[in-house]
Amino acid sequence: MNMQETLKGFLGKEIAQASDREIYQALLGLVQGMAERKERPESKKKLYYISAEFLTGKLLSNNLINLGIYQEVKELLMASGKDLARIEEAEPEPSLGNGGLGRLAACFLDSIATLGLAGDGIGLNYHLGLFRQTFEDRLQKEMPNPWIEENSWLKKTDVIYPVDFKGLRVQARMYDIEVTGYNSITNKLHLFDIDSVDERIVEDGIAFDKEDIKRNLTLFLYPDDSDEKGKLLRIYQQYFMVSSGAQLILDECQAKGSNLYDLPDYAVIQINDTHPTMVIPELIRLLMQRGMDMNSAIDVVSAACAYTNHTILAEALEKWPVVYLEKVVPQLVPIIEVLDDRVRRRFEDESVAIIDKKDTVHMAHLDIHYGFSVNGVAALHTEILKNTELNNFYRIYPEKFNNKTNGITFRRWLLYCNPLLAGYLDELIGTGYRKDAAELEKLLQYQEDPEVLDGLLAIKQRNKEVLCAYLKQTQNMELSPDTIFDIQIKRLHEYKRQQLNVLYLIDKYLEIKAGRKPSVPVTVIFGAKAAPAYVIAKDIIHLILCLQEIVNKDPEVSPYLKVVMIENYNVSKAEKLIPACDISQQISLASKEASGTGNMKFMLNGAVTLGTEDGANVEIHEVVGDENIYIFGASSNEVIGHYEKGDYAAKEYYRKDRSIRAAVDFITGDQMLAVGKKENLTRLKKELTEKDWFMTLLDFESYKEARNRAYADYADRRAWARKMLFNIAKAGYFSSDRTIAEYNRDIWHL
Ligand SMILES: *Cc1c(COP(=O)(O)O)cnc(C)c1O
Repeated sequence: MNMQETLKGFLGKEIAQASDREIYQALLGLVQGMAERKERPESKKKLYYISAEFLTGKLLSNNLINLGIYQEVKELLMASGKDLARIEEAEPEPSLGNGGLGRLAACFLDSIATLGLAGDGIGLNYHLGLFRQTFEDRLQKEMPNPWIEENSWLKKTDVIYPVDFKGLRVQARMYDIEVTGYNSITNKLHLFDIDSVDERIVEDGIAFDKEDIKRNLTLFLYPDDSDEKGKLLRIYQQYFMVSSGAQLILDECQAKGSNLYDLPDYAVIQINDTHPTMVIPELIRLLMQRGMDMNSAIDVVSAACAYTNHTILAEALEKWPVVYLEKVVPQLVPIIEVLDDRVRRRFEDESVAIIDKKDTVHMAHLDIHYGFSVNGVAALHTEILKNTELNNFYRIYPEKFNNKTNGITFRRWLLYCNPLLAGYLDELIGTGYRKDAAELEKLLQYQEDPEVLDGLLAIKQRNKEVLCAYLKQTQNMELSPDTIFDIQIKRLHEYKRQQLNVLYLIDKYLEIKAGRKPSVPVTVIFGAKAAPAYVIAKDIIHLILCLQEIVNKDPEVSPYLKVVMIENYNVSKAEKLIPACDISQQISLASKEASGTGNMKFMLNGAVTLGTEDGANVEIHEVVGDENIYIFGASSNEVIGHYEKGDYAAKEYYRKDRSIRAAVDFITGDQMLAVGKKENLTRLKKELTEKDWFMTLLDFESYKEARNRAYADYADRRAWARKMLFNIAKAGYFSSDRTIAEYNRDIWHL
């Protein structure tokens, strides 16, 4: 049967007569059928990528591309007067992740399947993903974000495992999402859930009873854990995920003939950050339950588990008090005590213990002692782990440490989100880069070709027009594509320093008011969600929204500068914004951003990075060279030095630098207070002048210089286009296909 007949079969009517929603549902069925019939990798050993987050984004178009039918479906629909882009709007977006870490897990699944490797994801089926963000009175408001419909990508299975908590047994049910590779095999994402979860317990925004475990266990992604009840719920969630996952892994391996002593020949378990760490003691417990002695169980598990570290921010390195574990999963406590005891007998150094003197379990320490591999996610990050943060571990186990610089899937972040550019690349260098990203370097032969340079500029212009139309339609924003599009989209966090961007904008606003008009007008776009309990982050959102109001409404300023805060930043928004970007803001305080992946998406789409020497920016700088990136700010060594000496004083910068003082004072000036809330703005100003833990003011002058230089360079269009070309041509290294090939070569050995 041809595609048209199949689709009509699913619809039960002519395509032209069907609604967008009906067509979406029909395509969902069609894709699922095709994915199910795809080949599965047959291999003895399998990877289990276990992660509390998989930020997949919408799946329809990505699957159509990977199955090789995107163009055919698009044309078929067009012939019946239907627009695939509109049909995509009918798909609810699964937001089962917070940001970079969850998006990385999703990119990895895509690349694992594309490379034809046997590897499944294991996670949780949150009914409500990351909250939906709205703005009210220029403040962030959080709303529930449901995504599961009667008919969705989730397939209910009959696989059920019992999971025991103290005084409560639940039945974990497995749901599966097909993970299609690009012209390749299909793997699975297994998401566990319980039938009794009840969305009706949500009240007033995203509040709910945190103690009603039967009804809330998989209700939310990362419920607020600022209090004890929230922390306990998080332990419930984590244990539920790892216990179900561990039972699945052991069952699958035994079914393939493993006697469990040879488990590492059948399974490798990649622990994505510390959230799934309890899989180590849980596997040991289950192996003992299946008849193995404890010493063997510990050895077997240690040879099968590998750990990825994602951050050096102290607050993100998880620690659970033993008393909390006793309240939820008492069966793990004696095992963790044995694991700690063994470490203590081998090493005197208190800093590498698993259970510290305050009876708190350090999850990362468990991973490092009882896994065979520890990797960081960018070269600089791994060096910092080895030399400072985890130095005491590195000295014990140098052989375990390795770097795997993050990557992104080019299917979603180029082929899908920027079809104009992908099509142009096909014309110029052939389609080989789609599977072998290193082939993008062929583009370098055109670096002096005016026709190609103009071609790249024309595509960027077109993408900016499309974004303008979208923002007009969705946020009623009037923007001009004939301005520089300068974009910072990522989670709101002080270390990512959206506040530095804002201080520059205030400074620019004051300059324009003083009569110094920029030569090229600029549109500055932000998109960011703040964690619901993160007060200062929410204050920064408030500041951006107030500034947007002041700048855009000022007739003297708005022809030269516009500020736009996108509501509810998520994967779909990223897909629309990134192809239209000229300048990519990657301005974290050096040493704080482990890698970043947004930086890679922008580069691939021909934006030029304005950034610090942090995370993967360092490697982007290396591959594109000084000419094609704007680097500013203190180095990670200087920053680490300031922390060690405790000699950074924001107050001094505020006192000595006139433009800093004017910009900071503006936050609580009359104009701001006329549109904003005094409490929030005063708190934020105080934070910046008295604490400024992430050293915003330290880098202000050098940031301003670099940003102004980028704006000035933009005017020479051909020279700018050459920078774009270099960024695209050198982006191949940042394909997650390369990252996954390295994981497999060095860690998984599939
Ligand atoms: C890529 C991505 C991120 C990560 O962005 P960074 O700039 O690396 O922090 C976060 N959220 C979404 C929706 C993304 O697509």
